[in-house]
Amino acid sequence: MNDSQTNFDYLDVLLDEEKKKELRDKTCSAFAIPSHGVVLFFDVNNYPKSPENSIWRSKAFYKNIKKDGLLGQKPPQINNIINEIANILQNYSHLIWISRRAWDTSDIEFVWYLSHELQHLTRDRVNHKLTSAGELLQRNRNLPGMNIDESALQTTIPTEMDAYLASWRTVQRLLGKEKANKYILQNTQNGELKASFQTLQNHGLEQEYDVYSETINILQKHQSKLDEIIKDNKVLYRNISSIDSLISNLKS
Ligand SMILES: [Zn+2]
Repeated sequence: MNDSQTNFDYLDVLLDEEKKKELRDKTCSAFAIPSHGVVLFFDVNNYPKSPENSIWRSKAFYKNIKKDGLLGQKPPQINNIINEIANILQNYSHLIWISRRAWDTSDIEFVWYLSHELQHLTRDRVNHKLTSAGELLQRNRNLPGMNIDESALQTTIPTEMDAYLASWRTVQRLLGKEKANKYILQNTQNGELKASFQTLQNHGLEQEYDVYSETINILQKHQSKLDEIIKDNKVLYRNISSIDSLISNLKS
């Protein structure tokens, strides 16, 4: 299971195609990855009918399993797998889960989704509180006052915008500028994430994006509401004592 060349552990890898494996390794090598402790889980299934706030509903996710575990209900199909590998997972810190619809697709989308999660992993290794802030914002996006439009969600939450930019950069590097720009353009015109891609395109790759100051800005904007939420959900937000403390962790 362990690939000594890449230092990755691949779980239930169904990428029989050599080309996909090659693309996977090229994508991984574009990121600063720890020498061990990462599981890349390419799932055979998709779980789009999972409950609204469930991470399994998404196409892919990154989790610091050492610090945050895998809270919440898991889809029944995955419960067995997770139970089976519970012992294995204990030895790991990071999990990147990729649904079938995110890996069994075009090369460009494959690189796009994998890069996105690898960027979350890279950021988490520098400052886990940035991950916590991103999850807090994402989880509460529909609250009054926040009300982030679903289509613009990915670029309104700074950790997501940061991951989008990383995907764009990696796709451009591995598959060329022309293909990358065409992909962005197509997504600004069609699809459920139109507004996110429009913001991304307007921002471009040249301009710096400071994920820390952007995150601090949005936390400050919704500070009182978010403080209430943290107080009312102590188990879920056990790693965050207040927005002030979270902000000071992002500044340090
Ligand atoms: Zn993300």
